[in-house]
Amino acid sequence: MREKIISTWKQGKGLAQLEYKFDFVVLGAGPAGLAAAVLAARYGLKTALVNDRGCLGGNMSKEMQTTPIGAHYVDKNFIYRRETGLAEELILNNLYINPQNGVELWDLTMQTAVYREKNLELFLHLAIDTVKMTEDGKKIAEVSGYSAESEQRIHFRASFFADCTGNGTVAFLAGVPYMQGHENSSDFGEEYAGEGGKWENGCTTRLRAKDIGREVVFHSPDWVKYRFEKEDLEHRGLELTFMNSLTGFWWMEWGGALDTVTDMRQIRTELTHIAYAVWDYIKNRSSLREELRTYDLDWVSTMPGRRENRRFIGDYIYTQTDIDEQRKFYDSIAYGGFGYDDHARDGIFHKDFANTHTYHLGPFEVPLRCLYAKNVENLFLAGRNISVSHLGLCGIRNMWTCLQFGEAVAAAATVCCREELTVRQAADPEHIDKVHALLHRVDHTIFSNPYRNPNDLAQSARISASSTLSGPGVGRIDGKWPVTMDCCYLFPVVTKQLESLEILVDAGANTRLHYAVMSGRPKLSTIPYEVLKEGTVDIEKGQGVSVNIPCNLKVLQKGWHFLVISENPEISLCYGNNAPVGLKAMYRHSKENVENPGCIQITKNRDWDYMVDTWEEPSYCLKIYPEQPVYLPENVRGETARPTFLPNLWISQATDFKQPEYLEFEWDKAVDVHSIQLIFDSSLDNFLAVFQGDTNCQWGGYSANVIPSVVKDYRILYKLSEDCEWREAANILGNYQRFCEHKLTLQNVVALRVEILATNGLDRAQIYAVRILQ
Ligand SMILES: Cc1cc2nc3c(=O)[nH]c(=O)nc-3n(C[C@H](O)[C@H](O)[C@H](O)COP(=O)(O)OP(=O)(O)OC[C@H]3O[C@@H](n4cnc5c(N)ncnc54)[C@H](O)[C@@H]3O)c2cc1C
Repeated sequence: MREKIISTWKQGKGLAQLEYKFDFVVLGAGPAGLAAAVLAARYGLKTALVNDRGCLGGNMSKEMQTTPIGAHYVDKNFIYRRETGLAEELILNNLYINPQNGVELWDLTMQTAVYREKNLELFLHLAIDTVKMTEDGKKIAEVSGYSAESEQRIHFRASFFADCTGNGTVAFLAGVPYMQGHENSSDFGEEYAGEGGKWENGCTTRLRAKDIGREVVFHSPDWVKYRFEKEDLEHRGLELTFMNSLTGFWWMEWGGALDTVTDMRQIRTELTHIAYAVWDYIKNRSSLREELRTYDLDWVSTMPGRRENRRFIGDYIYTQTDIDEQRKFYDSIAYGGFGYDDHARDGIFHKDFANTHTYHLGPFEVPLRCLYAKNVENLFLAGRNISVSHLGLCGIRNMWTCLQFGEAVAAAATVCCREELTVRQAADPEHIDKVHALLHRVDHTIFSNPYRNPNDLAQSARISASSTLSGPGVGRIDGKWPVTMDCCYLFPVVTKQLESLEILVDAGANTRLHYAVMSGRPKLSTIPYEVLKEGTVDIEKGQGVSVNIPCNLKVLQKGWHFLVISENPEISLCYGNNAPVGLKAMYRHSKENVENPGCIQITKNRDWDYMVDTWEEPSYCLKIYPEQPVYLPENVRGETARPTFLPNLWISQATDFKQPEYLEFEWDKAVDVHSIQLIFDSSLDNFLAVFQGDTNCQWGGYSANVIPSVVKDYRILYKLSEDCEWREAANILGNYQRFCEHKLTLQNVVALRVEILATNGLDRAQIYAVRILQ
């Protein structure tokens, strides 16, 4: 697969020198590098993945054990938020093999992704320390590094390189200009940047404790220079963070005032003192000490994680404004959704909140122009080292976001290799469609550049379905929710008129209910926007009382709408557990339940701030008049295979699957089919942690190792022009993935059927996309 050019080893003549040649060499195997390498190999590039340490994943490796998050984590602004593509594939694979949420099986999930790729070769324990440029200085000719495990110096030549090292070692050695440290507001016009600092977000050594079932002691070593007391750590909400997550000590942070590259030895030493001193305080003197009598120190990371240092300059510098405005770019290639999470310069010694997390209105997109070096024609950037301001980085440094950058760079490198382009040319309007097309082929989401493929045969087919769910609604009562704070229903509207809504409530006494019907936002978000109608309804005491909410509204824009019921202690809203996509129960944040006391300061606690349910939680009972036809079979050839402003999927009627549910595609003229892509519903509204780093930990409330709404058993059938028999092209049992691709060679096809025989638990078939490619 790759060419090994030279092997010159002579005893006593220094290190052996090996030289390899690849199409694409990815340096660093964190989330960004992992995705860049796996995807490039899938696209057909002969790829090397090089990592200086012995395991995959960077900060989400078994060595660092940080849970990857991203837009995925934040349900406050866009409910259907989870990243798709490789992130989703990894999450669902991990859920399947690792329901106990252990660190080792997460590591195995990542290794499986790498070792399965025949075009990909992995080099571990190899630290890249040298970059040679071409004579004209425009390109990298070669990178090389020292292999600690084989005492070799290994050289890599390639058409393209991707620096995914976090620190940007390769870009630095190649002479790419970079920024480091906090900017001032005036530099990029960022409201939250403030003035007067060149500090970075600091580093953290991670630790974990474990209940071993018998009393254990901890003696702080005499060389540890700190002894923390209550007043030292009272700003960190210790009780809360410890009990929520045993590896939750992200605030054990230091080094922001130093250079987190060159001063790392000093930072690591300091953080080692801090880690043992924090555990000494928690174990021996804190208010938790009785509770933690049987807890032992189980793990302290051997190196601190780095949040930030060099950010290299590409053709676009991403900033806070891009996040706030949810700016769209012609070359958008990924999205984030974490707001911006800025940490205090002095970390653990800062006598106030450890960070300030500012939320935003919805997913924000990042352009490809941030993902390459402006002055090196064959160097891509992916991960936390991309072209971004400090505050921009606070929004995009999460691992699922970085992983999407890796995917984008793989697609761009593939286009560059195929068409002999420079990295900059991949982002040209002339070529960007090809990058987008490759990304859509692997279920990567690009909201503002959605899937459009005129060659997709589903586009020209007549589509029909065995059945279609008549409209979003929840009638079955599974429980009641007291309206102790404002509660909110999310629902989709596609008709020109919204006449009324019907809800079910319990009223403890005769009372008056205040409601508001609100529109959705013009930009992607599931936060209510404008009040369209307000009113009151009198309710008589009773249980399961049907309440009619008059609307009589002309619908100006199809999409999400909201019904807000004001706080009323007499009322409980009835809810059902089996709501179709597009119905959600939400409640309004109060300041208290947003803040993590002492630890996180949430700014902009705006009155649009709604928290929604997560796993399998209910949706309030609701009927919409007129009925909303949103689950039509035609949705499976739509532009977006996930909810955006509408649910965007086909849903069958409720069934026990004794008879299969199906979608059928027919053509007047016979077609040839070479690939069929199916995108099932894996409930993108849920937060799925890949591991929590605690060997005792369970999935956060998940009893299953598969997502119930994913189609489990299905067949692909087809008819040829010359006969009318259905023939079987694929018969799949036990699927648990969202994205399934079938490479086939079918000629002269006049009809095709996707037949759903079972799901992983849901009593409906739910499909976002069927793509039939010639
Ligand atoms: C303490 C801490 C807590 C965090 N918490 C979260 C969280 O909860 N969720 C979340 O999503 N994000 C979190 N982040 C942010 C996130 O982890 C990083 O921003 C993200 O990992 C960056 O991804 P990356 O691929 O760019 O780099 P990394 O994950 O750092 O991976 C870089 C890889 O390159 C390798 N490498 C470095 N130099 C070389 C070299 N010269 N040669 C070869 N290989 C090299 C490294 O060993 C590593 O494997 C946290 C960060 C820190 C430090």
